[in-house]
Amino acid sequence: MKVTSAEIVISAVKPEQYPEGGLPEFALAGRSNVGKSSFINKMINRKALARTSSKPGKTQTLNFYLINEMLHFVDVPGYGYAKVSKREREIWGKMIETYLTTREELKAVVLIVDLRHPPTNDDVMMYDFVKHYDIPVVIIATKADKIPKGKWDKHLKVVKDTLELEPGDHLIKFSSETGLGKEEAWAVLQSYMKT
Ligand code: GDP
Repeated sequence: MKVTSAEIVISAVKPEQYPEGGLPEFALAGRSNVGKSSFINKMINRKALARTSSKPGKTQTLNFYLINEMLHFVDVPGYGYAKVSKREREIWGKMIETYLTTREELKAVVLIVDLRHPPTNDDVMMYDFVKHYDIPVVIIATKADKIPKGKWDKHLKVVKDTLELEPGDHLIKFSSETGLGKEEAWAVLQSYMKT
């Protein structure tokens, strides 16, 4: 897809703040530092529209991006940051749960993992959480440029086996450095926009 416009429309913490209009929506989740902002920026051809807001002490908000006036990306705060307090973790959990369970516009969750390493326990929890609510999942295995091509398939299998992916889940290798996987990712997202 050719992205011609992308802008942040709101940073929301509660449903009353979610944008209206009924546009299809994709939530982007991943552990802190996995490369989620880089993924968003690559997908929308911007250098730094999405910024990493996952460090402790920063406001934990759902950041809604309007793309081509036709869909929203929702940047979910990164998880798995060791230093956040139990209380912060609880607030995060409630906010995500409310969003995932009530948002009718949500077409799929894009879960970003690191192709180099097996998914973490937090990744598995996030995957299970999304599947529990019957929401379609697209797994993006990013940082593919950091490992040799010959090892991609082996690493993809580790991702698939660790998350215990189900038929129908999409798994796409990606690189925000080279743009690998970008067209495939857009094609999959576009297929969900029609659902
Ligand atoms: P976030 O916390 O998940 O939003 O992560 P960022 O997008 O800020 O990325 C974390 C670090 O990984 C940064 O230094 C990025 O430059 C780097 N990074 C992200 N994606 C890629 C990628 O596909 N390839 C490479 N080589 N580095 C990446």
